[in-house]
Amino acid sequence: MNLTLSNPTAPAPDSADGGTWLACIDCEWTGPPFDEIRYRCPDCDGLLEVRYADLPTFDDFAKSEGRGVWRYADALPVESGVSIDEGDTPLYEVPTIEDEVGVSALRVKHEGMNPTGSFKDRGMTVGVKVAEKIGTDRLACASTGNTSAALACYGTRAGTEVLVLLPAGKVAAGKVAQASLHGARILEVDGNFDDCLDIVSELANRGEAYLLNSLNPFRLEGQKTIGLEIVEQFRDQTGDLPDRIVLPVGNAGNTSALFKAFRELVAAGELTPEEVPILTGVQAEGAAPMVEAVETDADFVRRWDEVETIATAIRIGNPVNAPKALPAIRETGGTAIAVTDEEITDAQRALAGDGIGVEPASAASVAGLRKLRESGEISADENVVCLTTGHLLKDPDAAANAGVEPEPVPADTDEVLEHLSK
Ligand SMILES: *Cc1c(COP(=O)(O)O)cnc(C)c1O
Ligand SMILES: [Zn+2]
Repeated sequence: MNLTLSNPTAPAPDSADGGTWLACIDCEWTGPPFDEIRYRCPDCDGLLEVRYADLPTFDDFAKSEGRGVWRYADALPVESGVSIDEGDTPLYEVPTIEDEVGVSALRVKHEGMNPTGSFKDRGMTVGVKVAEKIGTDRLACASTGNTSAALACYGTRAGTEVLVLLPAGKVAAGKVAQASLHGARILEVDGNFDDCLDIVSELANRGEAYLLNSLNPFRLEGQKTIGLEIVEQFRDQTGDLPDRIVLPVGNAGNTSALFKAFRELVAAGELTPEEVPILTGVQAEGAAPMVEAVETDADFVRRWDEVETIATAIRIGNPVNAPKALPAIRETGGTAIAVTDEEITDAQRALAGDGIGVEPASAASVAGLRKLRESGEISADENVVCLTTGHLLKDPDAAANAGVEPEPVPADTDEVLEHLSK
């Protein structure tokens, strides 16, 4: 394996602050982490990532007094966050699905068990804290729903104004309800997610707000802890490491964050390059620009202007983190696959059958695993973790449509028995 981005141990530049700095992934630019607001490289417009002079080991984490995401504070750019106990989500066994697909071991990392019901909380506990440190009075994001729910919650807790831009009519009910009750100012844009992100990025560039989409490198640091937890939990449960992680891909922030977690574990001497799990991305057929890029071996991802899928959380045509995520998939020997809405709904039912309630985008991971087992791309002797990103209650309409129909009956025991006997 050729981990070309695996140099988080480059010597600290003068601009480093407490051993932490920002670096461009495409050129030699480095800069201070908190002195000025930057989302992209000032020299080449490339994506930025956070770098550290010291990389912690699992022994360091074991000594930590923090919980959840903050158990991994030594691997994060700030010592503590705006926190409501995010992270430390369960790694579930799924016996029925494991039997059905036939792999050595299958686990589901259920990120729907975070405080607001998605992994976005892991990014926000860090990102909102950094915003506080930098000193901003308005936080903003574009969102397919979960980012807005998490930002509304964490931003409000930090006492900061929150502005969210949502694609009108395309956000699941639970997510809008959360953003609304936590008091965000919600703008419903007559356009898709990518249009919302274009607008909010421009607002951020004009200094109107601090941007907390996954373009923000600090947010991805929080999401990195998913990878650290998976390694520790999988080892505890099976004595082994996962060979592969299958995950839904929208803006590809998680794909990038997991890869960074593993690169840093390699640099810290905790994993060999061969032990890094194979990252396998899944998109919906109607919104699959990453899959197209992987299949055609392209150097960049082509923006899809028209996107559609039941999995609204990944209804994204222009994944901003593609320059980080393509190497993540390629250098770990992974792949990307598209699944239909029907396959997503089937997988959502299968997960529910093993007791795990997820929203449609999350089920894409299991739908992708099924398909790649059928094609033989994933072999029977692999240890696999599927990432489920959001909770069932996020999208009650999709759940009700995928589930069984309620049966109306009169308020009378005999008539209820009569009904049941039919
Ligand atoms: C945000 C989100 C995704 C997409 O994650 P990326 O990191 O943008 O690829 C997938 N599923 C759910 C439920 C989400 O909220
Ligand atoms: Zn650059």
